[in-house]
Amino acid sequence: MAAKNDPILVIGGGLGGAAVALALGRKGFSVRVLEQAREFGVIGYGIQLGPNVFSMFDRLGVADAVLAKAITPKAILMIDSIDAGEIVRIPTGASFRSRFKRPYIVIHRVDLHRILLDACKALSNVELVPSTSAEYYENHDDHVSVRTNDNHSIKGVAVIGADGLRSTVRAQMLSEGEPRTIGYVAHRTIVAMKDVRADVPRSEVVLWSGPGFHIVHYPLRGGELFNIVAVFRTSTYSEKGDAAAYRAELDHTYRDSHPAMKSLLAMLDLERRWVISDRDPVRHWSKGRVTLLGDAAHPTLQTLAQGACMAIEDAVCLAELIGLANGDFARAFRQYESARYLRTARVQLESRYLWDNFYHLGGIEREVARAAWAECGEAQIFECLAWLYDGFPLPDRLSEAA
Ligand SMILES: Cc1cc2nc3c(=O)[nH]c(=O)nc-3n(C[C@H](O)[C@H](O)[C@H](O)COP(=O)(O)OP(=O)(O)OC[C@H]3O[C@@H](n4cnc5c(N)ncnc54)[C@H](O)[C@@H]3O)c2cc1C
Repeated sequence: MAAKNDPILVIGGGLGGAAVALALGRKGFSVRVLEQAREFGVIGYGIQLGPNVFSMFDRLGVADAVLAKAITPKAILMIDSIDAGEIVRIPTGASFRSRFKRPYIVIHRVDLHRILLDACKALSNVELVPSTSAEYYENHDDHVSVRTNDNHSIKGVAVIGADGLRSTVRAQMLSEGEPRTIGYVAHRTIVAMKDVRADVPRSEVVLWSGPGFHIVHYPLRGGELFNIVAVFRTSTYSEKGDAAAYRAELDHTYRDSHPAMKSLLAMLDLERRWVISDRDPVRHWSKGRVTLLGDAAHPTLQTLAQGACMAIEDAVCLAELIGLANGDFARAFRQYESARYLRTARVQLESRYLWDNFYHLGGIEREVARAAWAECGEAQIFECLAWLYDGFPLPDRLSEAA
């Protein structure tokens, strides 16, 4: 039986876990976040955040703090990797603000994480526990318990698995295999802006698109830093390997690309790379007093740059419903997944579609896509993005069906 002040247990202190801990903490719930890493929120590169996440930041009380650390790029540009011709330009200035009400930003992930974690630390009812890995949970009628790597059992009123792409909580709940790999890897690097070649655009989010590869880059921290992500198709999936072999592979893959784009490759940190993966969407990711959030629930390809935005939307939605449920966690979790699955599934499926049919085209397909995009005006592009950037309406009551 759960005691009155037993905590809600959040597994994973990434952006989703920190956001849900803060959202629940602000509502007065006792929350304990278990994070396997020795420190919370110390590793990360740049991240793009769409305007849809700002109403969530308002609810969390961190919108101003986030804006103070962010950069609003002039535009999001897609450039042809071979001839550097512009394919699509999404202006993110006044017309974007007027259409979507909130900005498009880029921010250092560590800065965003720090803002969420500091806000959690200011609440006496939120406890952040590092160096603690959840191994499995027990889901009882009236409480939950989580067994940790150091063989402790921690009791709580509910479990929120915010433990990412390779979620232990999901593995136990849904008994599936590994995430789906698609044959691509990413190298991520942050360099000093002063080291970037003059002909590389630096005030925009830029995506260089090519057959089987792309590079994304943008400025960070007041323009002093420059974030680069290089993605390409490969037959080797190792995340840590031989830097010289990685270099040879990069040089070969990007051999025909524009010199400005090639200059970025020379700056990449080749120590580590990420295998790009996602999962098929599912309708249900809760059982009893246990639910999932963020990448654990609906991992997506990076095409729309929305994985973290979806995790933060999940977090605020879930906290609202728990707040309304008067201790009926199972009911809150059913309504939460039913409120979220279509939107998150659309992000997963559109990301897959655009990955293959927009980002990485070659030959005549590439030329056709470029010609078609040249006919699209700003208003048309904004309307294509409206389902996503107009945001997610938070539930204000528990439905009878839940
Ligand atoms: C190359 C790349 C670029 C991206 N760019 C963007 C972008 O621009 N915009 C955007 O919105 N999204 C982007 N994303 C997606 C985004 O990074 C993820 O969607 C987001 O980090 C998900 O947050 P999360 O909290 O669900 O999971 P994670 O960030 O993965 O956090 C999970 C946490 O759980 C911990 N953990 C794992 N297992 C356990 C366990 N058993 N016990 C305790 N702790 C555990 C981990 O250590 C980690 O801290 C990008 C992703 C990649 C790979």
